[in-house]
Amino acid sequence: MAPSIHPLIDNGNQKGEPNFSGGTLHCHCPTNKVEVTLSSNVLHNHACGCSKCWKPSNALFSVVGVIPTDKLRVTANAHKLHIVDPSAAIQRNACKECGVHLFGRIEQDHAFKGLDFVHVELSDEKGWQEPQFAAFVSSIIEQGFEPSGIEGVREKFREAGLQTYDVLSPALMDVIATYTGKKNGKLSSKL
Ligand SMILES: [Zn+2]
Ligand SMILES: [Zn+2]
Repeated sequence: MAPSIHPLIDNGNQKGEPNFSGGTLHCHCPTNKVEVTLSSNVLHNHACGCSKCWKPSNALFSVVGVIPTDKLRVTANAHKLHIVDPSAAIQRNACKECGVHLFGRIEQDHAFKGLDFVHVELSDEKGWQEPQFAAFVSSIIEQGFEPSGIEGVREKFREAGLQTYDVLSPALMDVIATYTGKKNGKLSSKL
């Protein structure tokens, strides 16, 4: 059986709705689910092959998007959340019981501060922005994927209409570089 890239991408990349206004995410517990309510659509939704993002079982990639922090509220069973790795730049809040990551938040000074990282497949609603690109593709090799199969993985993304990168997309790398350039004084802070 061919490995799953991600359930949202395996059968073609379904387009989101431009006026979609949000919905609720749930963890995988059978009862007393942690619920997170998002009051807008996500941005920069993408597949990610890094080892830190939460992936559904059997999937090689995570699908992760961002949303402004003020558009996210934990609306049920918040007591079940814990932070997976308190030393990481992204504080990933996961359910203690089922292990699903509900949202990742940046508390330290960072280019993406003010944005939370979320996985829209935890929602039953349709209309979320579809994945726009694939990031950190080669990272799946570090997690045990046979290097000889990696071009086949890139081909699957291309078939789904997604560009593949081995870091983030150029647009997001530019955001990080701009932040770093301002911070180290090489770039005008007025930009
Ligand atoms: Zn749970
Ligand atoms: Zn990742």
